[in-house]
Amino acid sequence: MPVLFHHDLAVAVLGSGSRGNCTYIGDGQHGLLVDCGLSTRQVTRRMEAIGLGGAPIDAVLVTHEHTDHVGGVRVLAKSVHKRIGQPIPVFMSAGTQRALHPRLLPERVDNVSAGRPFRVGDWDVEPFTVPHDTVDPVGYVVDLGPLRVGVFTDLGCVTRLVQEKLLSVDIAVLEFNHDLEMLVEGPYPWPIKQRIRSRHGHLSNEQAEDLLTTCARAGRLKDVILGHLSEENNSPEKALLAASRAVCRAGRKDIGVHVARQAEAIDPVRCQVPMEARPGRPASVATARVPSQAPLLEAEAEQEVLFES
Ligand SMILES: [Zn+2]
Ligand SMILES: [Zn+2]
Repeated sequence: MPVLFHHDLAVAVLGSGSRGNCTYIGDGQHGLLVDCGLSTRQVTRRMEAIGLGGAPIDAVLVTHEHTDHVGGVRVLAKSVHKRIGQPIPVFMSAGTQRALHPRLLPERVDNVSAGRPFRVGDWDVEPFTVPHDTVDPVGYVVDLGPLRVGVFTDLGCVTRLVQEKLLSVDIAVLEFNHDLEMLVEGPYPWPIKQRIRSRHGHLSNEQAEDLLTTCARAGRLKDVILGHLSEENNSPEKALLAASRAVCRAGRKDIGVHVARQAEAIDPVRCQVPMEARPGRPASVATARVPSQAPLLEAEAEQEVLFES
């Protein structure tokens, strides 16, 4: 009897916040990282800690040049190259590439343009413009056929496009950066507070709550992972409360709400991918085990990550 479903898609936020962002999306056969602002050692350890040790990394998608998103990419890509014998593509906009410090530039860069989908293995990836104070920042939706996963962080405001993309996904990493009151009354210098609050800064709990309410009500969302929480100006409890209000207000208590952490990976959101919906993929893939791969530690000594948000 053919296997029709398999618990094979995992979406795991390995770390999120201004000290490093990294999200793994994989199905046991293919996998990619969205951003890599963590050291290779941390990526390896955190993947192992949540049962994804040795899971494949075929590519990295970079959203923008802030080092909390790109600081670990070069060394990570070099480690994977050593392990699999060929360089992996690191996707980023030409503007992001230009703005990147040469020391952080990975060996193989493939340029992407917002609005122009591209392929990574069997998957379609849609880069889209986001409002953030960098040269040419993008968010990504990864389309696995029956399932769509999107990363929506580092947003100064909610644009029509961001909302449209969030409406189209099943699993989202969504920025809940700060509690406005904590930010205003907190210790940051005024110009930094202004930058965070600006239309090219970061999304507050309140803004994210409104967006989530709209998208939970009208969209196909099944799981939301709250990301890029400020350690100074937010708390997991406040972000969770705001997101819970949103899904209740939308009448969608069935949506899974998860809070990403800065210092450790959270358990992956796992989904069933209907096998018959993936052309060219044999049903036996459903029972294949993730091959064990050597850890990614070789180039670790070269790692030095500078952090910006
Ligand atoms: Zn950031
Ligand atoms: Zn940023």
